[in-house]
Amino acid sequence: MSAQVISGKEVAASVLSELKPRIEALKKRGVVPGLAAVLVGDDPASATYVNSKVKACKKLELYSEVVKRPQTLSQEELIEIVTSLNRNQQIHGILVQSPLPKQIDELAVTLTILPEKDVDGFHPHNVGLMMIGRPGLLPCTPHGIIKLLEYYQIDPAGREVVIVGRSNIVGKPLAAMLMQKAKMADATVTVAHSRSRNLAEITRRADILIAAVGRPRMITADMVKSGAVVIDVGVNRVEDSSAKKGYRLVGDVDFDACLEKASYISPVPGGVGPMTIAMLMSNTVTAAENISQCPP
Ligand code: NDP
Repeated sequence: MSAQVISGKEVAASVLSELKPRIEALKKRGVVPGLAAVLVGDDPASATYVNSKVKACKKLELYSEVVKRPQTLSQEELIEIVTSLNRNQQIHGILVQSPLPKQIDELAVTLTILPEKDVDGFHPHNVGLMMIGRPGLLPCTPHGIIKLLEYYQIDPAGREVVIVGRSNIVGKPLAAMLMQKAKMADATVTVAHSRSRNLAEITRRADILIAAVGRPRMITADMVKSGAVVIDVGVNRVEDSSAKKGYRLVGDVDFDACLEKASYISPVPGGVGPMTIAMLMSNTVTAAENISQCPP
């Protein structure tokens, strides 16, 4: 039997429509939620991500601005930009698009962002709150994955969740969120990475398997337990001469083969990607509510 394909577009649309009354309430109080994206250098993928974020703001009629700087920008200059955005009352959310050039210490920049404007949820203050299960701004991709599961009524409680990938932006925070003693959590979480031995044995234990690696189609059908839920975070460009741009996007999961084995599966594109943007919008609105002391 074929798995049900999880529609990130549908779930993202539902998250965004729930934001609308909150945005209206803020506007009635004279507050337009504002997001600033800082883009350093000319990496085409980063420019595409920033464009999609700005487009999402426009659709919701939020204020947005992009601060573009060349690859040669110094750390001091970037910190100055962030400091001025911290002071800017039109801006409630600040994101600095990664990757950053080598001369810039990413942590030093993250530490400069005011935790209440840290809509990526990367500031150690917010990371700490997340770890102890207290309210704060949650990182967008892991939070988006939990929203996907919630929408499809896939409760992780008591289930074996295997996450492949331990980055600070996806794998680690997702593990922390899913292991909380809380609603849409309470899972038994295993995190695998490049040093894990017998990866297929580990992934086959998963009731819910989440791939966040960045290697095209590395999760093959034999690595998936029959009936498992498979969430694909990976975004990989693979050459495709028949595609307009000469490449197309694929995930970390061999989608076609795993479709026959899984109970639910998220596609790439159209799975986790739209959720990351929706949760960024949600964090921007939450930040505006918190900063202006206008609760939902
Ligand atoms: P990172 O490169 O930071 O982390 C990749 C992780 O995969 C690391 O923990 C690494 O292990 C692990 N890994 C690498 N090779 C293997 C292997 N052979 N077996 C097992 N584990 C392995 O990536 P990110 O977490 O930033 O992103 C992962 C993917 O998700 C990328 O494709 C990225 O583009 C995508 N992404 C998509 C988003 C979306 O919104 N859809 C948002 C964010 C990311 P180790 O730690 O040992 O090096």
